[in-house]
Formats: sequence, structure tokens, C-alpha cells
Amino acid sequence: MNRRFATALEKFLGPDDIIWIHDLHLIPLGKELRSLGCKQPIGFFLHVPFPPSGVVVALPGHADLMRDLLAYDLIGFQTTNDLTCFRAYARKELGARLLEPGELVAPSGHRVACDAFPAGIDVDMFVALCKTAEARREIAHLRESVGERDLIVGVDRLDYSKGLTRRLSSYRRFLNSYPENHNKVVLLQVTPPSRETVESYALMKRELERLEGEINGEFASFDWTPVRCLRRAVSRTKLAALYRASKVGLVTPLRDGMNLVAKEYVAAQEASDPGVLILSQFAGAAEAMDQALIVNPYDKDQVAEALQTAISMSLEERQARHSSLLTTIRTQDVHAWSRAFLSRLAACKARPGDDLTASETGAAPLRPAGKKKAAKETG
Ligand code: UDP
Repeated sequence: MNRRFATALEKFLGPDDIIWIHDLHLIPLGKELRSLGCKQPIGFFLHVPFPPSGVVVALPGHADLMRDLLAYDLIGFQTTNDLTCFRAYARKELGARLLEPGELVAPSGHRVACDAFPAGIDVDMFVALCKTAEARREIAHLRESVGERDLIVGVDRLDYSKGLTRRLSSYRRFLNSYPENHNKVVLLQVTPPSRETVESYALMKRELERLEGEINGEFASFDWTPVRCLRRAVSRTKLAALYRASKVGLVTPLRDGMNLVAKEYVAAQEASDPGVLILSQFAGAAEAMDQALIVNPYDKDQVAEALQTAISMSLEERQARHSSLLTTIRTQDVHAWSRAFLSRLAACKARPGDDLTASETGAAPLRPAGKKKAAKETG
């Protein structure tokens, strides 16, 4: 498939183009483009986490797939943790030589730049969305529908990585441990379906429905439904309104490359009266968003306690946390992300002779090697 993709793409490439390839299904595309003779700088960005070496090696044929990464000029990861895992794997399993943290040398002699580029959102666009007439109408409608109650929101594709059943169980633990919140909170979970034909996803959907039914059966009163689940996609404007109308954003994936919902949640808040973000320590976003309430999604008691803390947090603390989080997501917004990656990739074009020769490494280069340049080895 990647070969067909490369053949189709190659026809459109000009000599001064740079090529930025996204995500795991296209890992082999760079190598396929090289084999067609493409000389342009090619970068790759991995949107999902790079697991620790000991986990990657469980994948049959892992080295065949991962070796393809070494055909790129630049590999981008979401977090420094992913970068560290990749470098350790590349050294141990692929025989790469590590240079300074931003570079390594493949056994072929090809130098590969690699770094963390945390993906961001368009903050201004999100702020603007909240001010549209449609968003205002939705906010008013949502507030009316929950009344005086505090709204807790979750927004995730139906996927095993999002930890949805654990989230509902943690919410149930919260209602059990802090009964003073009965009839005072509503959890609204938006979960558009994904991979509906896959059996394990259908099972997950049924398990969620069962839990939702159990929680509502156990705690609901005539005028209170503790958890509401929407099983369809919602427009960006509606999401912005939902984030804004809520008191708590509950983002508890078991693993996530970044998690843009966490950033959207912060962008959508009103600075004068912001909601509180609860964020899984296993989302890439947690690396920089340390002013969220960081939780272990496997620990129901901790998530329940964080919900209680968020619901009762003072206005001053909410404002201070929000202001710091907003600065973070503005600094790392989508424009900064693409600028940083593309300028680094363009620089790959401008480094003549940065491939070591085959005689230095004892291996055939993936593409013709240029001028010899000594590499400083650091680990
Ligand atoms: N999203 C949406 N409508 C929905 C649910 C989600 O537009 O009903 C968007 C959401 O605004 C976010 C993206 O889908 O921009 C999800 O990105 P995230 O990084 O949080 O998770 P992913 O689905 O990529 O794992």
C-alpha cells in the first residue's frame, strides 16, 4: 500500500519540495519514496506514543517496520519520553549510533534528526468558536438542561486507549465516596463510534452501555440522570460550547500520543470563571500541562478524589491554573508545532554531506552518501 502511495505521490513532487508524512500507517512511505529516487528532505511525525523498547520487541517483525523509520531525514515525536524510548530502541534493536539528543546515525550511515514536537491546537480559532452565536445558544441550552448542577464532560472516540469504562467506574466511585454530590453533578460523555465492525469495539460499546445503565439505575432520582452518553460525533462549535458550559473536563486515557481534547478544553474556558482540567498522566499532553489535576486513570480512588477537588476548587486557584495552562497551549499551538517541524526539516536540505560514508560504517548507504563529516557520539 505504501509503495502504491509513493508511486502516486512521486508524480507530483518538485525538486524543491519538502515532504512531511504523518502517522504509523505510513511508516514505510519514506523508504518507498527513496527507492523511487526522491532526494527531497522527508520528515515523519508519529502521532501515537512510541512504546518502551521491551514492548516494541513483542511485535512480530518489529525491526523490519522500525528500520523503515531510519530512511527519514527527520522523525518527530509528541513527547521527550517518546523520543527517549525511540532512541533506546534504535540503538539496541536497529544498531543506530546516537549522537546528540537531536540526531542519530543509521547503520547505513544516513544521519537522522529526531526530536519532540508536541502537537497543538489552533487556540485563537477555538476561542473565536466559543463566541459565535451558535456556541452561545448551545451554552445557554446546556446550562438550562443541567440547571444548578455542575457539568463534567468527557469527549473521546470509542477506543480502548481512552479508558472509558475505567472513567465511568471512577465516576461511580466518586458518587459512592462523596454522596454530597448526588443530584449536584452530571457527567456528559461524548463518544463517537470508531471501528464499529471490529468485535472488540462492539464489546467495549456494550460494556459502556451496561455501566451507564448501572450507574443511572443505582443513583438516579426522578429529576436527575447522573450520566448521559452521546454516541455520535458532535461539531467543533458544539464541543466548544460543551467545554465552556462545564465545570470539569475529564480526560483520562490509558495512553495517548498527545490528546487535543485536553488543549481544546483549556482554550474554551472563560478566564474569569474557568473549569478545571483533570488529565491522565499517560496522555502526552500531561508532559507540559502540569497545572491540570494529573491522575493515574487506573486508580479509581485518585480520579474520584480529583473530581471532588475540581468541583470544590476556589475561583482563585481555578484562575491561576487556567492562566498557566493557557500560556502553555498558546506557546505550543498548532502553528508553532508546524513551524518548528518544517523549519527543522528544511534545514535537513541545507546540510550538505551529512551522511557518513559506507566505509565509515561498513554498511551500504540508503542513498548516495555526501561529504564526510565526523559525528560526536554521546551515548
Ligand atoms: N472531536 C470532534 N467531534 C467529536 C469528538 C471529537 O470534532 O464528537 C474532535 C476533538 O475536537 C479533537 C479530536 O476529535 O480535536 C480528537 O483528538 P484527540 O487528540 O483528543 O484524540 P484522538 O481521537 O486523535 O485519539
